[in-house]
Amino acid sequence: MPIKNRFADLHEEITGWRRHLHENPELLFDTPKTSAFITEKLKEFGCDEVVGGIGRTGVVAVIKGKTDTSGKVIGLRADFDALPILEATGLDYASKTEGVMHACGHDGHTAMLLGAAKYLAETRNFDGTAVMIFQPAEEGGGGGKEMVDDGMMERWNIQEVYGMHNMPQAEVGSFSIRSGPFFAATDQFEIAVEGKGGHGAMPHTVIDTTVVASHIVLALQTIVSRNVDPVENAVVSVTSFETESKAFNVIPQHVLLKGTVRTLTPEIRDLAEERLKKLATATAEAYGATATVNYDRGYPAMVNSDIETGYAAEAAASVAGNCADAPLIMGGEDFAFMLESRPGAYILIGNGDTAMVHHPEYNFNDEAIPAGCSWLAEMVESRMPAK
Ligand SMILES: [Zn+2]
Ligand SMILES: [Zn+2]
Repeated sequence: MPIKNRFADLHEEITGWRRHLHENPELLFDTPKTSAFITEKLKEFGCDEVVGGIGRTGVVAVIKGKTDTSGKVIGLRADFDALPILEATGLDYASKTEGVMHACGHDGHTAMLLGAAKYLAETRNFDGTAVMIFQPAEEGGGGGKEMVDDGMMERWNIQEVYGMHNMPQAEVGSFSIRSGPFFAATDQFEIAVEGKGGHGAMPHTVIDTTVVASHIVLALQTIVSRNVDPVENAVVSVTSFETESKAFNVIPQHVLLKGTVRTLTPEIRDLAEERLKKLATATAEAYGATATVNYDRGYPAMVNSDIETGYAAEAAASVAGNCADAPLIMGGEDFAFMLESRPGAYILIGNGDTAMVHHPEYNFNDEAIPAGCSWLAEMVESRMPAK
């Protein structure tokens, strides 16, 4: 079964919603227009229940199948927030809000889930319940966590949950997936190094924080190269090195280091945090300085469960002919919180030859819509076949 015919008919309408969302991007949880647009559409489609305010500004809609002898409930999730990026696409439907842009394709994800909702509410050709999950604040705000913490899974008795993200440079409408860890846990750290500032020509009278902080930066490189099992994956990047000195001849009293740690398992996450703290504080101490470490745990690793990955890949293959193996990605994805709470899977859909996500010239490819909508609908119809 290739693309569902209905989505060929709806392609233009769904493209219209996508471009409307693109023109009106909103950030994190501050999404009044987007949440209202989604709610209005879902009500118009005749969904059985439409509830806003889940996870602050998330929206959930329930669509019941013709029958419910299975008692099954399948959740489908799309994110809908934009990014603080100045758009450079030159599109006639480019962002009307300067400095805010749908540069990750969440406009496309939301339009596709709306399209699937319209189709499922029309046809109801399944035995069970479909729950449409529209999530704010994927880009660093943890909207997925807020929806889970709000009791969404229990309230609607969601048993499995599926999500999708577009992938530039992959053939448009093609699919790829992997079982197990897929996206990384994303932690961030700050290391405040304090020594003793002074004259640049009198190093013997100071404790030079720039030298101490440089040793810390190098020491941190040994976490991945010497502590993590070489067949595992991890990233430790120091991304910022700030001092308060703007002068050629002043050794600063303070250096602030910032960076990110990416890991795929709880054990390596714990190991990286423990080693980072120890290396920073002990290195500083060795030079007579101090290091204060602030370590913030962000999104956990996103882990696809085995059986549900198989279901998602089968549905994708039925739409597109096949489903490829996706590589590991050390980026983060807050769908991780939904997959911590329920079995399920996250799949990538090709966006064709476009700029990468988060680039000012990126644009979601509307040609992916029929395949994406078909996959979403197929997840419902194949997991809860009509009686
Ligand atoms: Zn993004
Ligand atoms: Zn994204």
